[in-house]
Amino acid sequence: MSLNQGRQTLSIPGPSIMPDRVLRAMHRAAPNIYEGELIDLTARILTDLKRVARTDGTVAVYICNGHGAWEASLSNTLNRGDKVLALSTGRFTKGWIDMARALGADVQELDFGPRAPIDPDQVEAALKADPSIKAVLCVHTDTASSVRNDIPSVRAAIDAAKHDALLMVDCIASLACDRFEMDAWGVDVMVTGCQKGLMTPPGLGMTFQNDRALARRREVEHTSVYWDWLPRIEPEIYYQHFCGTAPTHHLYGLGEALTMLLEEEGIENVWARHDRLASSVWAAVETWGDKGGALACNIAERGLRSSAVTTIRTGTHPASALRAYVEKELGVTLGVGLGLHGPHEQPTDDIFRIGHMGHLNPHMLLGTLACVEAGLKALQIPHNSGGIEAAHAALV
Ligand SMILES: *Cc1c(COP(=O)(O)O)cnc(C)c1O
Repeated sequence: MSLNQGRQTLSIPGPSIMPDRVLRAMHRAAPNIYEGELIDLTARILTDLKRVARTDGTVAVYICNGHGAWEASLSNTLNRGDKVLALSTGRFTKGWIDMARALGADVQELDFGPRAPIDPDQVEAALKADPSIKAVLCVHTDTASSVRNDIPSVRAAIDAAKHDALLMVDCIASLACDRFEMDAWGVDVMVTGCQKGLMTPPGLGMTFQNDRALARRREVEHTSVYWDWLPRIEPEIYYQHFCGTAPTHHLYGLGEALTMLLEEEGIENVWARHDRLASSVWAAVETWGDKGGALACNIAERGLRSSAVTTIRTGTHPASALRAYVEKELGVTLGVGLGLHGPHEQPTDDIFRIGHMGHLNPHMLLGTLACVEAGLKALQIPHNSGGIEAAHAALV
């Protein structure tokens, strides 16, 4: 007999759980794409996205996922052979690096390892050593390690080096989860996608850019027509916003999600809710791992952890067995461990992740945590009891 009927829960770091309201907003007949409601909705969405990103700059929206937004950011800011400094803290900057190299950039990587944040002193030294670097790439939250980098400290390092490289930040996992202030933090380019904190099915990628970044765009000799910022941010006709047919139904969904985030909950409350929910996950994991328990958060220091995703180490116990049990028997899909081994090391099976981003309340999160605890018991993975009580205590 299987008890696992009912609604399956996705507790992975993206796509996040979509609000029914967002899905319902998409469930409609195709709109007129030449005039009327869709045109007004698009204008509202562009304004609201900038409110979420805390910028007076511009936003370009693409029909793509996060990888597309990465490519868009690079193809508007780099000429072939340009030097780039990339700051790795897990897995995700590495994906951006591969893309930059494929486009002909000369990338210098500083790798801070899978359990630590960016060290701004090393960034400052690398920039002082090479005045020709055009851009610094980094992630706000690395979704593999679940470290959250201190972006203002990276800006301070660039300024201390009196360097004019663009600061380009991947907020795909963090936007509308962790506090992010594009203008106040001196970020020149920010990339994101719609399927994590923005609670919309995968399919829209965005780049945000300030005037410095736009000035750089004008120095770039070859930009692909599809990724080009300029027609998208200053279209002569609506069609140019998306370099073709608009993502009609995604726009209805995203519009609804932005109403929920900005008009109903308020972005400051969204950030505070994610903080509180994250501290509940950490309380559970730290309790389980206490007194010789097998589990531990990948990032030791609470202040360095993302509030959208937690990477959990399982020691000598296979994380895949735990994920399989929790998914098949209990109805919760947990995140897989993602490439935190070194380039010459074998992949290990000692990591899983809990996504706690987007449309989430205590009922959903406590359900996930209780299922993880049940999995630890069933598979006899050593753990200290009291994780759920600790998770609950962190919420009240
Ligand atoms: C999810 C994610 C990506 C990749 O996004 P896709 O939509 O899967 O292409 C890139 N960077 C970070 C930090 C992410 O969390």
